[in-house]
Amino acid sequence: MPSSSAILADLIAFDTTSRESNLALIDYARAYLAGLGIDSQLLFNAERSKANLHARLGPAGAGGVMLSGHSDVVPVDGQSWSVPAFEMTERDGRLYGRGTADMKGFLACVLASLPAFLEKPLRLPLHIAISYDEEVGCLGVRSLVEQLHASPERPDICLIGEPTEMRPVLGHKGKLAMRCEVHGAACHSAYAPQGVNAIEYAARLIGKLGEIGCRLAAVEHHDSRFDPPYSTVQTGVIQGGRALNIVPAECRFDFEMRVLPADDPQTVAAELRDYAERALLPRMRAVSAASDIRFSELPSYPGLLTDPASQAAELLALISGSRDFSTVAFGTEGGLFDQAGIATVICGPGSMDQGHKPDEFVTLEQLDSCDALLVRLGQWMQRHS
Ligand SMILES: [Zn+2]
Repeated sequence: MPSSSAILADLIAFDTTSRESNLALIDYARAYLAGLGIDSQLLFNAERSKANLHARLGPAGAGGVMLSGHSDVVPVDGQSWSVPAFEMTERDGRLYGRGTADMKGFLACVLASLPAFLEKPLRLPLHIAISYDEEVGCLGVRSLVEQLHASPERPDICLIGEPTEMRPVLGHKGKLAMRCEVHGAACHSAYAPQGVNAIEYAARLIGKLGEIGCRLAAVEHHDSRFDPPYSTVQTGVIQGGRALNIVPAECRFDFEMRVLPADDPQTVAAELRDYAERALLPRMRAVSAASDIRFSELPSYPGLLTDPASQAAELLALISGSRDFSTVAFGTEGGLFDQAGIATVICGPGSMDQGHKPDEFVTLEQLDSCDALLVRLGQWMQRHS
């Protein structure tokens, strides 16, 4: 059977940048599974240009373990690569190519490990999940999460192989991203008081966000498992205005909250809406009745914090050989699985230091370590009672 590095070479060759179809990769995985006698089903997007793959081995019924990863990768546009991005290059124990770390390396290890899972009967169900559009807001996996949530055959535990250098990880912050559009009223800047300056009202809202951010950092509960150990707020994009001598009627800004799993980012959003409604809109509408402030949600994902005493964490400690649990700064699909009642842990080959960058790589040593973890998982599932 092919090794994980041989399968990784095949997976890297599919350009699954999130804007592209992932179906060639999914067909490859499906054919590979079929070759082992494993049925799989696809869950397509509305345009049928992308799909999640879901397969189950072993006994029917509830419970068991799911191995999950995303098939899409971030773009290489504007990056300067010294090796081809969509062709695997091996050099000095490193395998280069877009997605080697994030996270086709894990998918390759999972596919390569399946013959070992099939060697003896599994006592628990093993699920395989490959999603799309993770890199653009964990969008693709949501239909699969919904289906699993409603299914009597829902797994208990999910292992997501995002790159942690094979360290056992139990959590990450959640993200709520939002857009705010301020609609004021334009006029000649010489008569500024007759207009409603959308940029100036947007600045008040952004200032309010800054205040909320300072308060979260200063007084509210901290959690030292995260870095920084509190929830943060920041504005990242702003657009508005056409010319200095026109009072701007439109301003739009995007902001995000990166919150501890225990915090609800909607309370921050509600505080900002409340400020807009009570403090700003009455003044704006006194000048121009059509003034408005509108909020909309951008792709976001929930946080994750699995209990270190849970069965999922115990299993991760057993197969990774470490109970030195930590958290990661980046987000995963894990919070969505967790919300569906599937306790989720993260451990995978490679490092996010290499993810999303030119000359992304994973080491052969990391793949070997992941292969070994999956062998231990297979043995545990074969002897579990
Ligand atoms: Zn990833």
